[in-house]
Amino acid sequence: MKDGILKAMTSDGKILVVIATTTHLVEDARKRHGLSFTATAALGRALTAGVLLAPVLCREGQVALRFDGNGPLGKVFVDASPKGTVRGYVENPQVELPLNSLGNFDVGGAIGPDGTLQVTLDNGTGRCYVSTVELVSGEVGEDVNRYLVYSDQAGSIVVVGAHLSKNGVEAAGGLIVRLLPDHDEETICQIENNITTFGSFTFLMRRGMGLEGMLKRILTGSDVLMLTEEKPISFACKCSKERFTEALKIFPKSEILSMAEEDGQAEGRCHYCNEYYHIGKDRLLDLAGGAI
Ligand SMILES: [Zn+2]
Repeated sequence: MKDGILKAMTSDGKILVVIATTTHLVEDARKRHGLSFTATAALGRALTAGVLLAPVLCREGQVALRFDGNGPLGKVFVDASPKGTVRGYVENPQVELPLNSLGNFDVGGAIGPDGTLQVTLDNGTGRCYVSTVELVSGEVGEDVNRYLVYSDQAGSIVVVGAHLSKNGVEAAGGLIVRLLPDHDEETICQIENNITTFGSFTFLMRRGMGLEGMLKRILTGSDVLMLTEEKPISFACKCSKERFTEALKIFPKSEILSMAEEDGQAEGRCHYCNEYYHIGKDRLLDLAGGAI
């Protein structure tokens, strides 16, 4: 099953659901960054949350998440666009923790439990809106839910998960249910009940259930209006050799010259995607010639 995202609402316009499968993009992130199991579970949930939040919060631009907790994983950075791309990294990708008391990866202990989640919304107009909430647990889903409740006082349900085996990511994905104005308690109870009996998101994925099937299961009892067809999503970064070269221009000419003459090169790695960039001596001398 390819990674995809689907948006729907109940036909009475009171409940919005965004649902996504992210298995391949989380596996892509695991390989790029050489993530431990715990770090894969944590970044996998955060990437999935970014993918789900982007089309909920904006039509253009991007949403950036920064989990800044007191756990050994350090900060977790994700940004996602409503066009279906996402990228992200963790500060300490090798950190591995024992499973928690429920037998799950200890994402809460790796990220938090204390600290903040900062959400920066850039809706393409050049203005950024920054909100910061205290972490609930560092488990990601609960923290993102707190942000949504804080940001517009409306209730929501956030589910994000990644199932791993020794071979890598077997299934990853999640959903956000938004309660729009004038929602009624009866419908919410029905959906909460559906989600309780729904079981594990990644378990249903591994049994081959598609996004539409899962969506209808969550909204059992309500008429469903599809707002989008299933759209592809992927891990994609904005970096390039050209951008890396441009970034070197902020250095004074003397420093670029010393990079060329003493090191014979400049090299760097993109935090977000771990791509390695190398600029040779001749190119550096060109840049030094053009620098002020
Ligand atoms: Zn990159």
